[in-house]
Amino acid sequence: MTDLLITAGRVLTGPGGEGTTDGAVLVQGRDIVAAGPREEVEALAPRDVPRMSLPGATVLPGLIDCHVHLAFDAGDDPVGSVKESDAPGLLLGMARRARQLLDSGVTTVRDLGDRDGLAFRLRDAIAEGALPGPRVLAAGAPLTAPGGHCWFLGGEVEGEDALREAVRRNAAAGADVIKVMATGGGLTPGGPATWESQFTPAELRAVVDEARRLGLPVAAHAHGTEGIAAAVAAGVDTIEHCTWMAEGGFDAREDLVAEIAAKGIHVCPAASPNWRVFAERFGYERADAVFSRVRWMAEQGVHLIAGTDAGVPRAVFDNFTGSLDFYRHLGFGTDRIIDMATVDAARALGIAEETGRLAAGYRADVLVVDGDPLEDLDALRDVRLVLAAGRPHIPEHAIARH
Ligand SMILES: [Zn+2]
Repeated sequence: MTDLLITAGRVLTGPGGEGTTDGAVLVQGRDIVAAGPREEVEALAPRDVPRMSLPGATVLPGLIDCHVHLAFDAGDDPVGSVKESDAPGLLLGMARRARQLLDSGVTTVRDLGDRDGLAFRLRDAIAEGALPGPRVLAAGAPLTAPGGHCWFLGGEVEGEDALREAVRRNAAAGADVIKVMATGGGLTPGGPATWESQFTPAELRAVVDEARRLGLPVAAHAHGTEGIAAAVAAGVDTIEHCTWMAEGGFDAREDLVAEIAAKGIHVCPAASPNWRVFAERFGYERADAVFSRVRWMAEQGVHLIAGTDAGVPRAVFDNFTGSLDFYRHLGFGTDRIIDMATVDAARALGIAEETGRLAAGYRADVLVVDGDPLEDLDALRDVRLVLAAGRPHIPEHAIARH
């Protein structure tokens, strides 16, 4: 950690594209002391503070990826790789992938399912400064039905009492969030179909109730409309995927989407960085039918947040911008997209008082990129410097280029 004054052509303090040209950010240790017009911030800076001047760059809040799986390697068969790996081998890969996230400007990730509590260990090592990486909020083993979606991560459980016990077990192991697989999913052959519910509404209520008692939020993986309805009724904090599937098709319910919006439940569509390849293979027209439901949710007032599902096949850890590009394809403005990956994500994860914007007293989670991401989102790919909780990190590709 270091003290640092960064001056730049633009500083996006957020939200909504809020910011200033010819701006500066002053960092002391782990925290931001000031962010805004250069002259005002400079006036607060100690004379001998190290300075970095980047007139062509933009400074913005570090990015937040709300849905990753550090235990998965994003290859063709991540499940097979996990099954073959012992704990030390898996942890090494997770550390490498955490660094890749940091390289691409991500300063906070929510890990929604790993094995053996390894994400907790990685989280703690990063927090202590032993490894470079983003802050990790980790779920541990996701709660799932016996033989259900991602059962091999060790979270199989059945019945209300056992579910409550599983929540307590994850909490005791150090979970920051409880992840529950409300429906089936694509990764797990032989499990329930993707649209099918894995738990009853009463079981999901028990999960949320027990998590609340322990002060933990709940993230529900839900593709099927029935599972989405049960998750909404239970009062989860975030719904992951939310694809409105039903047997043989889709069932996007107006009343339910209105309830999601009214309850302030955040939805993470978990758009893969690889979405364009999917669209090309699937056919843009058919893919757009799926994509348009995301646009529809936004139009109905649902708070969407950014996440990549990094780790599942071809959802790589170094292309968050590729995932954000999905929302540009849907017609979202760049200011809104950046909010989804910063201030809105922080709110959804319960850390809005700490990170997601550049302001005095916030953690120094800071991203410096060349160019102006409000003009061109691809500027987010040109990372010059990342501060994660005040720790400076310069990606190798940035050193090679400059
Ligand atoms: Zn996932």
